[in-house]
Amino acid sequence: MSLPLHRSASDRAAPAPKGLKRDQVTAAEWSDWHWQLRHRLTRAEDLEAFVTLTEEERRGVALAPDLFRVGITPYYASLMDPARADCPVRMQVIPLAREERIARGEYVDPLGEDGLSPVPSIVHRYPDRVLLLALDRCAVYCRHCNRRRLVGQDDGVISVPQLETALDYIRGTPQIRDVLISGGDPLTLSTDKLEWIVSSVRAVEHVDIVRIGTRVPVALPMRVDDELCAMLRKYHPLYINTHFNHPKEVTPEAIEACTRLADAGIPLGNQTVLLRGINSEAAIIERLNRLLLKMRVKPYYLFQGDPVQGTDHLRTPVGAGIEIMERLRGRITGMGIPQLVIDAPGGGGKIPIGPNYLMAWGNEQLTLRNYENKVVTYVEPAERDCRCTYDQGC
Ligand code: SF4
Repeated sequence: MSLPLHRSASDRAAPAPKGLKRDQVTAAEWSDWHWQLRHRLTRAEDLEAFVTLTEEERRGVALAPDLFRVGITPYYASLMDPARADCPVRMQVIPLAREERIARGEYVDPLGEDGLSPVPSIVHRYPDRVLLLALDRCAVYCRHCNRRRLVGQDDGVISVPQLETALDYIRGTPQIRDVLISGGDPLTLSTDKLEWIVSSVRAVEHVDIVRIGTRVPVALPMRVDDELCAMLRKYHPLYINTHFNHPKEVTPEAIEACTRLADAGIPLGNQTVLLRGINSEAAIIERLNRLLLKMRVKPYYLFQGDPVQGTDHLRTPVGAGIEIMERLRGRITGMGIPQLVIDAPGGGGKIPIGPNYLMAWGNEQLTLRNYENKVVTYVEPAERDCRCTYDQGC
């Protein structure tokens, strides 16, 4: 899919940054999301102001222009451990030279989205829902991104005619009930532009729900301002999925952003990607999910890393995810337990995986185990006919 992108003056890289740390700028600058975007760190010398780069990070940054761009808001950079390269924030956004390696089974487009695109900016994988790719810009560029072939190329918005074509596809396809606006990060659009997209989708009669996927509460929480929330609350039912990966990302600013969205009546879910050495232990996921629940964000998906080229070093063995799910069950409320899924390579959709609790399934009864490995028997009811006779056309 080719994306005609337009770059605005305000999106261009800032002049050589000097003093971009929180205590080196005014409070007004720090809390201005445009300032944060304009001053994203992109070069080794920018990053050196925040952390001591290792040799492999330095080589990774040097290689990045040919692989996947670097861009980190000063806010997100402020969460990095300056001295530890194994910092989970740092590992998500500072490239390593090993991104150059392409491992067996890795793809440029791991989910086969390009082949599922009936018109530019639309991915139509499931019958009742589509993905609307509204822009290619993000607040930060995550090294594990499964859409790295698309995002951050020109750091711009997609043209209005292209979006109109995408909206026409939604208008003309009555089986679409659910539109997920993603990209790139839709919340980095101006409020006006985002409102035009959301209201256009909302105006389609057969669309039941609108969803937005965003990392803004994680990497640019000051963007969640009163103006944005007042706009979004006009278009219910509207859902937002965030992308927190580690407890370190749950800061007072992130809590405030999620609180504002929740107070605007927006149900919030979170999609975590399992990342080796970042969040690949049950205690970290449990802590993260407890924090998410406290700020009214429901852990929704736990994704096995997609096999996107250059990310082998960040992916976990599938067994690690299953073990985490095993450890979560019984330790935390079911509200805090996401669904572990593999998004099937080649466009097969999400496949749930997890521990097996069903030990035997006979005609009369089932044998199950609980989270403590206690074996129980469940006797089936005598009646098996499950037809519902009250049919009022639902
Ligand atoms: S915010 Fe999402 S789309 Fe953007 S780089 Fe990160 S994972 Fe990719």
